[in-house]
Amino acid sequence: MSENLNLFTSTQEVIQDALHKLGYDEAMYELLKEPLRMLQVRIPVKMDDGTTKVFTGYRAQHNDAVGPTKGGVRFHPQVSEEEVKALSMWMTLKCGIVDLPYGGGKGGVICDPREMSMGEIERLSRGYVRAVSQIVGPTKDIPAPDVFTNAQIMAWMMDEYSRIDEFNSPGFITGKPLVLGGSQGRDRATAQGVTIVIEEAAKKRGIDIKGARIVIQGFGNAGSFLAKFMHDLGAKVIAISDAYGALHDPEGLDIDYLLDRRDSFGTVTTLFENTISNKELLELDCDILVPAAIENQITADNAHNIKANIVVEAANGPTTAEATKILTERGILLVPDVLASAGGVTVSYFEWVQNNQGYYWTEEEVEERLYKKMVEAFDNVYTTATTRNINMRLAAYMVGVRRTAEASRFRGWV
Ligand code: GLU
Repeated sequence: MSENLNLFTSTQEVIQDALHKLGYDEAMYELLKEPLRMLQVRIPVKMDDGTTKVFTGYRAQHNDAVGPTKGGVRFHPQVSEEEVKALSMWMTLKCGIVDLPYGGGKGGVICDPREMSMGEIERLSRGYVRAVSQIVGPTKDIPAPDVFTNAQIMAWMMDEYSRIDEFNSPGFITGKPLVLGGSQGRDRATAQGVTIVIEEAAKKRGIDIKGARIVIQGFGNAGSFLAKFMHDLGAKVIAISDAYGALHDPEGLDIDYLLDRRDSFGTVTTLFENTISNKELLELDCDILVPAAIENQITADNAHNIKANIVVEAANGPTTAEATKILTERGILLVPDVLASAGGVTVSYFEWVQNNQGYYWTEEEVEERLYKKMVEAFDNVYTTATTRNINMRLAAYMVGVRRTAEASRFRGWV
């Protein structure tokens, strides 16, 4: 039997389960099983060679009963309508889990920024904002960085929106450079959030982070900052990987050296000869395994071979439903993506609050507030899982969807 690798339908299934466990009927599921709004746009961009290329982009708004929708924009060749829809639903769950006054949104453009010049990326970014400008805005839907988009791209998008809006609109987008109203700590917020839940999960399993053996799949924004944080806490990062392969040293890798050598897309293994595959990396003997790369990495095929005591999903959708079942049955503590990676949107919310107030917080203030949000979220999900005897993913979905379902009911939508 082949398992379901479709992120959209497998997300729908867990949302349905979570709503039923919370006592909602089919009507609530009908409302929440798809985004309320999905815009597809075509973006003409003048390329450096004088030709015009037309890109396809999307913006999905899952549900805005709680507040404006919120979520990143990814620039990637594999972006699709279904992926953007699923990702917008995950944003609703993340915002619910860390209790932010937002619904979920997500955007994407089918393109490969690795093969584009800075000028082309700037024109594409501005074109995207013009194309979706009618449905986004600081009180409607607030974009942010995601895969292959960064602070510079957020700055161009904010500038374009400010021209359309005829106001300086820092609250239109988060993940901006500090000088344009970005928040302290936003660039490393996802990894910081992952670090906090790793510490909480390790406490539950009686693992001391000092000396713990950590394997991280992926060396992008989340993976690379996380490797650094773990290393600084005294853990042994014994393996990391990028899209091309993985590096393994049972004595612990020299993380500072690797960070120095990685390129802006997170590639580093191509500089070495002794590499192992991503598949081998996942099955290494370790205490904590962190998939921080792409989806569908732990499946029914390899879930039985995972040797970690704790799996923390820093990527979106790295473990299939079938694998979630297997890991849970095997007694492995799985910290699901919608909880583990919620640190990014949490500090995005802090950035938006600071923009609205025009008053900026110190790095310590941001870190303290993030810490509180993540620990509370972890406790909530963990307690729901243990008291109801359900897996951590279903528990996280229950905690995540509750506020949106309640708000939709109060508004009289269902
Ligand atoms: N793209 C990030 C995520 O998937 C951050 C979203 C945001 O900051 O709004 O959580």
